[in-house]
Amino acid sequence: MDIYRNFKIGAWVVSLIAVGFFLYSTMIAPAGNSANQNPQHSKIDTAMGDSDHQHTYEIKKTEEEWRKELTGAEYRILRNKGTEMPYINEYYKTETEGIYVCAACGQELFSSETKYHSGSGWPAFYAPLDKEAIDTKADNSMFMTRTEVLCSRCGSHLGHVFEDGPEPTGLRYCVNSVALDLIKQDMD
Ligand code: FE
Repeated sequence: MDIYRNFKIGAWVVSLIAVGFFLYSTMIAPAGNSANQNPQHSKIDTAMGDSDHQHTYEIKKTEEEWRKELTGAEYRILRNKGTEMPYINEYYKTETEGIYVCAACGQELFSSETKYHSGSGWPAFYAPLDKEAIDTKADNSMFMTRTEVLCSRCGSHLGHVFEDGPEPTGLRYCVNSVALDLIKQDMD
């Protein structure tokens, strides 16, 4: 009987270890692995801080108010996270010097000095004017894992940031022209 009882206790111990390992492997390990397997997030997080934080925006308007203020295209992209057509948008090839501001609230976002030709079809910048000017969020839509870029003042959608940009940051801020207004200015 002692052997049988010891066997039963042993079986329970083995079962508990197995359940514990299962929970560890399904709930904890993948989170750690996915962070390692996705260098895009780790690099962007290093540059931008936590990309999944909740941000409270200084400018809060109802969707009805935004709808009245913005054009149809602006509303679709800035407030409904839309994407404009590549190549034929306003600032894709622009080399005019100046500051690009948020088309929804006017916050200064990017400088022409960090704009470069990425070939993607949209305006690309390797850095924002100020790290605090933009907010980032994980975006798992369209069967992809991307990092969304938003205006930190009004929360409007600007575009996405990718890890295939030029030095010194290695980042590419791929932004919709419609989300931007260029304020021409001599940058020398
Ligand atoms: Fe804004």
